[in-house]
Amino acid sequence: MKLDNPALLIEKNLVEGQWIGADSGATLSVKNVATGEEIASVPLLGRAETQRAIAYAEQAQREWKRRTATERAKILHRWVSLIEESREDLARLITAEGGKPLAEARGEIAYAASFITWFAEEARRVDGAVLQPVNASQRYVVTKQPVGVCAAITPWNFPAAMITRKVAPALASGCAIIVKPAEQTPLTALALARLGEEAGLPAGVLQVVTGDPRAIGEELCQNPTVRKLSFTGSTETGRTLMAQCAPSIKKLSLELGGNAPVIVFDDADLEQAVAGIMASKFRNSGQTCVCANRIYVQRGIYAALSDALVNAVNALKVGNGLDETINQGPLIDERAMNKVESHIHDALEKGATLLTGGKRHPLGGNFFTPTVIGNVDQSMRFAREETFGPVAPLFQFSTDEEVIQYANETEFGLAAYIFTRDARRQWLVPEALEYGMVGVNTGLISNEVAPFGGIKQSGLGREGSRFGMDEYLEIKYVCVAL
Ligand code: ADP
Repeated sequence: MKLDNPALLIEKNLVEGQWIGADSGATLSVKNVATGEEIASVPLLGRAETQRAIAYAEQAQREWKRRTATERAKILHRWVSLIEESREDLARLITAEGGKPLAEARGEIAYAASFITWFAEEARRVDGAVLQPVNASQRYVVTKQPVGVCAAITPWNFPAAMITRKVAPALASGCAIIVKPAEQTPLTALALARLGEEAGLPAGVLQVVTGDPRAIGEELCQNPTVRKLSFTGSTETGRTLMAQCAPSIKKLSLELGGNAPVIVFDDADLEQAVAGIMASKFRNSGQTCVCANRIYVQRGIYAALSDALVNAVNALKVGNGLDETINQGPLIDERAMNKVESHIHDALEKGATLLTGGKRHPLGGNFFTPTVIGNVDQSMRFAREETFGPVAPLFQFSTDEEVIQYANETEFGLAAYIFTRDARRQWLVPEALEYGMVGVNTGLISNEVAPFGGIKQSGLGREGSRFGMDEYLEIKYVCVAL
């Protein structure tokens, strides 16, 4: 694969300040999702190398935490500049290994960089408190200190942003961090690490290990030197990691699965609702944890909305994301294709109506035709499971109470969206929805200043925003007797 700066296509891991291969020499092949061709191979690391990375991180963190926040912030700002200069190469890597269209990949680079800028700024605002003593001969001080060595395990659907959203607050607060990117998308992570190195990050504060998820994951979770794990991925894997972290009582941030409802009320602005659904549902071909999964439409607007949505979906262009005219890339793998097909099949068998799409795309491979399905109801798999693909299932509803109940009928609680021009609904419905984030008249809600995260089985903790910094800090209270 061709990059303007070939040094950003890296087939080594960053461990102990060196670019290394696996002890065993074993490698893992990285494929272009659109074509199936091998782009590169990366080291297949296991427990031993991970253990060394952890020990090295501990040493590195001792020096890093002693630097001033201003010094740490300066390096982070330099890292942002280098990322921006390498935007095209990074976007190509994201598109090749992850599949999203180039325009979305460029957007992800801007989004990823925004977290580094934000936390570089926040670094200087990590303040404590002086408390009123209950005893005249005592003084109380509260400070915040970095948690120590952190680990990040990240998914393939945002190969850059899910890394910077964890790494930036860790580094800004004075922690060291070891990243294990998804096996499908390690190249973006490695390129980011090289740029971090160039920006002046000291050896060992950011290390990247690729390879066997189980072996690396077990070491990161069980090793008592690691004080915090931040994970983004499936609820199932999150549960496993949480259990593995229990014996050493690690701090945890978990960003897990979602099952986002979109509610379109009769009084919605139709154009705004369709634009919001398209943005939320078809971004990354439906493969984000905040993608609309269930679209509830009030009876009065159902016919108009379904017609308008079908037209918008039919205008999507499917293909290799490296082609600038494409806005729907491939799905990540065959397992994803099968899941999408099985959800469609289940709904049609139970009486839903196919409005457009519904099948694999003629291009073959992992391309799926963008799909709209009508007359979906709560008995179907769409209601309960995250589809993670380019399928918009439309449910009908009558009353606010009914739709709020449907929307909350899930163990997930990440993002929800509502479309309404009624001010009362704009306040009351988000209050009643059991979700960590609610979009009102918009399908795009994520940015660096907002707290991203879910409730129920969608996870623990918040990323981004001023709240995201606290996840990497411990509170220390000092009581001084005079
Ligand atoms: P997805 O279905 O998106 O692949 P996963 O939760 O399986 O979701 O993957 C997200 C991340 O978790 C990836 O980096 C993957 O390698 C990692 N992972 C998967 N299983 C384990 C495990 N048992 N231990 C540690 N990491 C894991």
